[in-house]
Amino acid sequence: MVAPLGCLPQAAERLDNDVSRLFDNEIVVDVERLNVDSASFVQMETLGEVGAQILATVAERGKQHNRVTGSGGMLLGRVARVGSRVAGRASVGERVASLVSLTLTPLHLERVVAVDLARHQVEVIGQAVLFESSAFARLPADLPETVALAALDVAGAAPQVARMVKSGDRVLVLGCGGKSGLLCSSAARRAGASVVVGVERSEAAATAARRLGACHQVVVADAADAVAVAGMVLAAAGGEVDFAVSCVNVPDAEMGAILATRDGGTIYFFSMSTSFTKAALGAEGISRDVTMVIGNGYAPHHAEATLALLHDDPALRSLFLERFG
Ligand code: NAP
Repeated sequence: MVAPLGCLPQAAERLDNDVSRLFDNEIVVDVERLNVDSASFVQMETLGEVGAQILATVAERGKQHNRVTGSGGMLLGRVARVGSRVAGRASVGERVASLVSLTLTPLHLERVVAVDLARHQVEVIGQAVLFESSAFARLPADLPETVALAALDVAGAAPQVARMVKSGDRVLVLGCGGKSGLLCSSAARRAGASVVVGVERSEAAATAARRLGACHQVVVADAADAVAVAGMVLAAAGGEVDFAVSCVNVPDAEMGAILATRDGGTIYFFSMSTSFTKAALGAEGISRDVTMVIGNGYAPHHAEATLALLHDDPALRSLFLERFG
């Protein structure tokens, strides 16, 4: 039973994760791996052992819904049972990755087998329920599953950038060396951006972004240092940008993006660490007329588009293979 009663799953305090009963419109998946949302994983790392925290959250809430970041992640597994009303959606034995958040996915965990600190993935034994409305992807044959899982976790990012960036735009990508940052930089360049400026805080991540080659310039700065970031971005882009996307996994990146974006421009806050109040009140505070878009994780055909981008961009693919393969 969901608690509180009548609440939709994402907002619920607790979900019913009893998978012994199969409803006719549900799919039960034997879960092998969780791809934990980056903001959530990093937040848990600051507190200690990630596996124990995941077990505790799932035991308490019936889902992996981080109380601090409010975010979840997604899962990889094998279809175990398919309800009669959704019989055509999946076949028993198929390997699938969920494309809906773990914050709304009923999950029962028997145990955590291993925590993969580098990939922000966790090997588990458990079961999950996919609703009739829950999108999922079949895993591609041409990529290691850990790579596909990493890309599909942020599948909404690049397709949204592709449809928002106009030819000739000046673009800023905060966190350009991370998963979504690399994908968004590549998508922006392919959409015809005249200048793409990336920001990363470490040389290692900046080097990865430079290897991708999608950014015209990558500057090393702390995205939370708004004034410094804006100054460096304006210098690198030759003025304020038309479009900015925030792909960092830490709080306080709102003002750097807002200061660097022109009046009439657009900022896509893909980052789960974004604060609505900081963004809304911060833009108001400096009278900046920007359109701010919440990072909806869904766009039609986002999984296919993201996998196609990985397929078509050899540098992107090789970075993902190195990091997540
Ligand atoms: P990721 O791979 O961990 O990348 C984040 C990048 O940001 C890393 O390269 C990181 O550098 C960099 N970074 C961290 N702090 C920074 C700072 N202060 N200044 C500059 N760069 C900084 O994360 P991801 O998986 O792409 O996810 C990015 C964000 O999207 C996260 O907030 C995640 O929760 C969110 N997300 C949103 C959705 C959605 O539906 N909207 C879905 C999935 C994920 P280091 O490696 O040096 O730390």
